[in-house]
Amino acid sequence: MRKIILATNNQHKVQEIKRIFKLYQFLTLKDIGFDKEIVEDGLTFEENALIKARAVYDFVKNNTKLDCAVLADDSGLCVKAINYEPGVYSARYSGLGDEGNRKKVLEKLLGIQDRTAYMQCYAVLIMPDGETRIEEGKTYGLITKSKIGDESFGYDCIFWSNKLGKTFGQASEEEKDSVSHRAQAMSKIKEYLDSINYKGIDDQEY
Ligand code: IMP
Repeated sequence: MRKIILATNNQHKVQEIKRIFKLYQFLTLKDIGFDKEIVEDGLTFEENALIKARAVYDFVKNNTKLDCAVLADDSGLCVKAINYEPGVYSARYSGLGDEGNRKKVLEKLLGIQDRTAYMQCYAVLIMPDGETRIEEGKTYGLITKSKIGDESFGYDCIFWSNKLGKTFGQASEEEKDSVSHRAQAMSKIKEYLDSINYKGIDDQEY
C-alpha cells in the first residue's frame, strides 16, 4: 500500500483527501506521534501549507524511520466584497469556531449585493528526499444570506457553488469532489505520484 503522511488534524479534510487518493493509505499526525502546535503565520495559503508540510517533514526525518511523502493542505474562503476575508484566517476568523466564523461573514455582508467568493486550496507535497511540489485549486461561488444544508464543515453551508447550483452543505460527497478547490489541488498531486509510481513505505516500524 502506498503511504503518505497527512499534515492535518482536520477530519473533514482527511476524509475529502482520502476520497481523492483511492488505493493510498494515510498516516495521520496522531499515528506518527506529532503533537506540536504548528504556528501558521504565513500571509498566504501557499506559505501556510509550506509551513505545515515542512514542520511535519522535519519531525519525520528527525524522529522516525518512515520513508514516505508528507502532504499538507491550507485552504479557506475569500469573499470579494470584504477584501477577500477571511482568507488565511478562515479557521480562526471569529475565534469562536465554525459557527462564529460563518456568522461573522454573514454579518459583514449584511446589505451588500456583491456576494462573490471563492474557496482556494494549496496542497504541498514533500517527497522523502525533500523534493517539494505545490498545487492549487480554486472554486467560485456566492455567499448565501443564511445557512443552507449541512453545517458540519467550515463555510460549506453558506457557500453556493456556481458549478453545482447548490451549497457545498447540500452537495453529496461526489458532487463536492467534482468541483472543489481541494479535489482540484489534490488530484494534481495524485497524478504526479501515480506518474512516478510512488511506493511510500510498507509496514516498516515507526
Ligand atoms: P486550515 O486548516 O488552516 O487550512 O483552515 C481551513 C479553514 O478554511 C477550515 O477550518 C474551514 O473553515 C475553511 N475551509 C477550507 N476548506 C473548506 C471547505 O471545503 N469547506 C468549508 N470550509 C472550508
